[in-house]
Amino acid sequence: MNLSEQARGLVGQPMFAFKKRVGELEKKGKNIIHLEIGDSCYTPPDDVLMACAESVLSGDTHYTNACGIDELREEIAKSVFEEYGFFPTVDNIAVLPANAAIDFVIRCTCDVGDEVIVPDPCFPTYTSVLSYTGITAVAVPLDYKDGFKLRYKDVAKRVSSKTKLIILNSPSNPTGAMMDGKDIAKIYDLARSKHITILTDEVYSKIAYKLPPLSSATMDKCRSNVVLLKSFSKEYAMAGFRLGYIVAPEHFARKISLMMETIFSCMPRFIQKAGIAALEYNKGSVTWYREHYKECRDYLHRSLNNMGFKCHKPDGAFYMFPKVTGDDKTAQEKFLKHGVAVLAGSYFGYHGNGHLRICFANTMENIREAVSRMEGIC
Ligand code: PLP
Repeated sequence: MNLSEQARGLVGQPMFAFKKRVGELEKKGKNIIHLEIGDSCYTPPDDVLMACAESVLSGDTHYTNACGIDELREEIAKSVFEEYGFFPTVDNIAVLPANAAIDFVIRCTCDVGDEVIVPDPCFPTYTSVLSYTGITAVAVPLDYKDGFKLRYKDVAKRVSSKTKLIILNSPSNPTGAMMDGKDIAKIYDLARSKHITILTDEVYSKIAYKLPPLSSATMDKCRSNVVLLKSFSKEYAMAGFRLGYIVAPEHFARKISLMMETIFSCMPRFIQKAGIAALEYNKGSVTWYREHYKECRDYLHRSLNNMGFKCHKPDGAFYMFPKVTGDDKTAQEKFLKHGVAVLAGSYFGYHGNGHLRICFANTMENIREAVSRMEGIC
C-alpha cells in the first residue's frame, strides 16, 4: 500500500518500541525493573478512581462537547488562578490529551515551511509532529555544562522571519532542568514583539523541587501569544486517563476544540469527572508524590555519583540524565541485560546522545534494587 509523504515522516516516540521489546523479554521470564517510561508506578488517588467509576456506572457514557465539560473547565480555571495568578474564562480552556495538544497547537500555528524552535534534547512528540507535518524543527542544543538550561541568547539567534512557534518545557523531559526566570522573560518579550507563539509545556510544573520561575503564561495571562499546556498524567499519576488541557486566547482555544471535535469528538465524560475529583480533592496527594519523588531523586543521584556517573541533580520532573561512556544505545542494552530498563538519551534528540534517561517515579524499594543491579555493571 502506498504511504503519503506525511506518513513516511512519522517517527513517533522511539521509547515505545523499546518498551515493547522489554515486555517481550519479561514474557520470556526476565525480571526487569521499569525505569524507562515516564509513568509513575503509583495509581491515582482513590477519590479520582471513585469519581470515574461512579460516573461510568451512572451512565455518563455518551458524547459530550469537544472543548470539555463546563464543571471541569471551571475547576481548571480555579487551579490556573492558584498556580499562575490569573483567572482564565472557560472559553480560554480546551480539554484534551496533552500529547494531542502538542500536535494540534503546532498545526494551528504553523504551515509547511514555517519554523519551530525546540530544545534538543526534548520530549520526542515535538519533533515527531514536526517531522510528519513538514514543518521545520530548529533545534537549540542544550549543554550539559550549563545544566541543560534553555537560554534566551541561544533562542534569539535562531529566530527568523519563518519562526511561528517557540516550545518551552520547564521542568524538562528528559533532563529535569528548570529554566531561569530571566531567560523566560526575555524570550517572552522577543516572541511578543515578533508575533511568535510560545507553547509553554508545563506538564511537570507541580513536580518541582525548588520554587519555579515566573511562567510566560503568567506574563501573558494566555491572552496574546502564549499557550499553556498541562496534564493530569504526571501530577496525579493519571497517565492512562489521557487527560490534559490547554489555556490560550479564546479564538485559539476554539480552534483546538475544533481539532478535538474533528479527530476524537470529545474526551469521555467519566474521565473528565475524574479530573474534577483530582483538582477538587487531591491537592495533598500532589505534595505526597512530589516529596516521595524527591527522596527517590536524592537517593538515585547519590548512588549514580558514587558509581562514577556524571549527573546533575534535576530541579523538577522525575528523570535523571546521567552521562555514559561510549554509545548510549549500547549502555541501554547493558542496563537491560542486568534487568534495568532505561532509555538511550539519543531518543530525545541528537544532543541527548551519550546520556541515559532514568525515570525515578517508582517505589524506593525498586530504585534500591535497580541501583544494586547497576553496581554490577560498573
Ligand atoms: N509534554 C511532556 C514534556 C511530556 O513529558 C509528556 C509525556 O511524557 C507530555 C507532554 C504528554 O503528556 P500526556 O502523556 O499526559 O499526554
